[in-house]
Amino acid sequence: MRQTLSFIPTLRETPADAEVKSHQLLLRAGFIRQNTSGIYSFLPLGKRVLHKVEKIIREEMEAINSVEVFMPALQQAELWQETGRWYSYGDELMRLKDRNDREFALGATHEEIITSLLRDEIKSYKKLPLTLYQIQSKFRDEKRPRFGLLRGREFLMKDAYSFHATPESLDKTYDDMMQAYSNIFSRLGLNFRAVIADSGAIGGKDNHEFMVLSDIGEDTIAYSDSSPYAANIEMAAVQMDYPKSDEQARQVEKVSTPDQKTIAQVAEFLETKPENCIKTLVFKADDELIVVLSRGDHEVNDVKVKHISGAKLIDMATPEDVRELLSCDIGSIGPVNLPAGVRVFADNAVKSIVNGVTGANEDGVHFKNVTPDEDFTVEAYGDLRFIKEGDPSPDGNGTIQFAKGIEVGHIFKLGTTYSEPMKATFLNDQGKAMPYIMGCYGIGVSRIVAAVAEQFQDDSGFTWPNAVAPYGIHVVPVNVKDDVQREAGEEIYVQLKAHGFEVLLDDRKERAGVKFTDADLIGLPIRITVGKRAAEGILEVKIRQTNETVEWHKDEVLEKVR
Ligand code: ATP
Ligand code: MG
Ligand code: MG
Ligand code: MG
Repeated sequence: MRQTLSFIPTLRETPADAEVKSHQLLLRAGFIRQNTSGIYSFLPLGKRVLHKVEKIIREEMEAINSVEVFMPALQQAELWQETGRWYSYGDELMRLKDRNDREFALGATHEEIITSLLRDEIKSYKKLPLTLYQIQSKFRDEKRPRFGLLRGREFLMKDAYSFHATPESLDKTYDDMMQAYSNIFSRLGLNFRAVIADSGAIGGKDNHEFMVLSDIGEDTIAYSDSSPYAANIEMAAVQMDYPKSDEQARQVEKVSTPDQKTIAQVAEFLETKPENCIKTLVFKADDELIVVLSRGDHEVNDVKVKHISGAKLIDMATPEDVRELLSCDIGSIGPVNLPAGVRVFADNAVKSIVNGVTGANEDGVHFKNVTPDEDFTVEAYGDLRFIKEGDPSPDGNGTIQFAKGIEVGHIFKLGTTYSEPMKATFLNDQGKAMPYIMGCYGIGVSRIVAAVAEQFQDDSGFTWPNAVAPYGIHVVPVNVKDDVQREAGEEIYVQLKAHGFEVLLDDRKERAGVKFTDADLIGLPIRITVGKRAAEGILEVKIRQTNETVEWHKDEVLEKVR
């Protein structure tokens, strides 16, 4: 590609609102532009990187017989209502109406769509297993879109879904995916780690996140200093199974602060109310009284809260109970007014209820007319630190250390979480209707572009690895007004292209300094500078990752770049 015919708007200054290196450089080197908060356009160079990442993902998906499809982003609300996620997903789900007032969501993920697709098509165990994937834009109204492509509101995801007749078959595909993911991230040159994860609001059993180790990661990984153990911090806290003994448990209860008194009162109060519908957890951390609300049927979170250090799980509180114990108004009565120092944590299911989303799917659990963030704060579990560095590793080997990670992939065994409520069944070998056993497997394709960008750069710009570089070779005639230089540059460009190389030719009439600065910014792996010595056939070559420079004769270019 000739630079004069492409669109590579480089910037000299670092954009003020870009906080992290990858975002700054993707803007400066002309790879992306922001449209509005969390929404980006990919310019030609950015699009090429994206394409390379997609290509690697496609190859590894096809290698394990995962087959590509393309599903709609615009999804009718009815499907989301079948699984209840219409109510539980909360504000992150982008909702809209058509001209007839029919409700839709913009796909945040595609479990409902694919389950509904297959339930009408696959009736026999003989057609299973089946794994389908797509690469498509996803929409999530993130509370804090930030760091450019790392957390967008519209972003590209590879999402795969597998369907099985037996748990063993799911295990096999899960293992294949695990391997495929490792291949993908290795080929991308990323410094990553697979960690045991908690499935949060989605439900299900085995569950791993793939984390790129990076200081700007928003996730915390807890790993053992002397074993392969690695989990996300939430899961590590669960696996700690703390407090381990009655003695430790009693010590936690013995803390005598005014807040503790409140906790005891709360516990006593709620224990007398067995048959209601919200589970409440009250505990003290960092001198704050923390209340966790979790919907009664939310198994995964129940497991999680039961194991929190120093926590007391109180089953089945009603909104009235919560209101009374917090001496605040919840429900249709009026604004919530929590006592100072109280933070409320809730899973997504409860969040939508607390946030007053109308039509929450259980009677008696609506918290209406309240303004979150004004009347009180609702946060996700993840912020709670229940495990510290230096704690014993849950696997019994060594002690826990923390590292920051960027979640680039996530694989889950869903089981029948979706197929059961959606009545998606097949006939097994006994002729009996059974819900499909499912798995789902996501990769943040656009997030990966940022993760790679974050890892591969130096003070003057990108240092793309070959696997994802927008072009492999940059041919830079220093002065295109000089016939010898221009023609030599053209010749090399045409020759390399004819041999299948991806080449960018800087045919602009710019000063040498501008060209070199831009070439460093863009960061293609090999730069061939055609300067004054072109007349003798001598070219100056820079290997961008090492900044090493060598001289090549123009006749040896082909053999050297191979
Ligand atoms: P996060 O914890 O970062 O919010 P998630 O757990 O909500 O991510 P998943 O539902 O597991 O995300 O989606 C699969 C993958 O999609 C993630 O592993 C991540 O790589 C990517 N992803 C999720 N949200 C975003 C986003 N807002 N912008 C870019 N990529 C994202
Ligand atoms: Mg998220
Ligand atoms: Mg996550
Ligand atoms: Mg995830």
